[in-house]
Amino acid sequence: MRLVLLGAPGSGKGTQAQRMQARHGVPQVSTGDLLREAVAAGTPLGRAAKAVMDAGQLVDDATMLGIIRERLARPDAARGYILDGFPRTIPQADGLEALLGEIGQPLDAVVLFDVDPVVLEKRLAGRRTCRRCGRVFHVESNPPRPGDRCVDGGPHDLFQRPDDNVETVRQRLGVYCERTQPLVDYYARKGLLRHIDADGSLEEVDARLEAAIRR
Ligand code: AMP
Repeated sequence: MRLVLLGAPGSGKGTQAQRMQARHGVPQVSTGDLLREAVAAGTPLGRAAKAVMDAGQLVDDATMLGIIRERLARPDAARGYILDGFPRTIPQADGLEALLGEIGQPLDAVVLFDVDPVVLEKRLAGRRTCRRCGRVFHVESNPPRPGDRCVDGGPHDLFQRPDDNVETVRQRLGVYCERTQPLVDYYARKGLLRHIDADGSLEEVDARLEAAIRR
């Protein structure tokens, strides 16, 4: 299974990629998570990426293609992956196609998560992430359940991402419209695009996603 989840920030790609990873046993590859790991580790990449991310802008295409090339070469990606947050620009999509062409492993499908922009802002404002395991929650619609434990057996350590404040969220939504939305036509022309209504309960969206990838 080689999938791209496409959609605006807050459309639920990350949450659904994590749920698919659990159901199908193929890794979620989130370029946002890879960058946040680099920031936390204080690597040169992380130091350069932090300001760009905090401003709600995109890290440059050559850097992102390097990151994805290295990530897809790891053994756990041999049976497939769910790309979450990549590609985000036409040059990234072209680069991905060339990379997958080299290894003879084309994408199976690209799923577009459709969500009303008003819902997006609400979702991002309530989003919380566990510092230790990376699981994504929402203060209202998806809080940790009583008894839900993190990898070390303790409670989740939730925090709000620095780029989930109102101003940066607006900036990110603008960047999505300008730089990423053109990928909808790009993948439609290649016959890979599937749409899902991504506004609904987690279970409803799970079901729509599973149906879309079987189509
Ligand atoms: P995300 O967790 O997917 O919302 O990504 C958080 C931030 O990381 C984005 O706002 C960008 O600054 C950066 N980022 C993640 N993926 C990419 C990408 N494919 N291209 C450029 N920047 C990215």
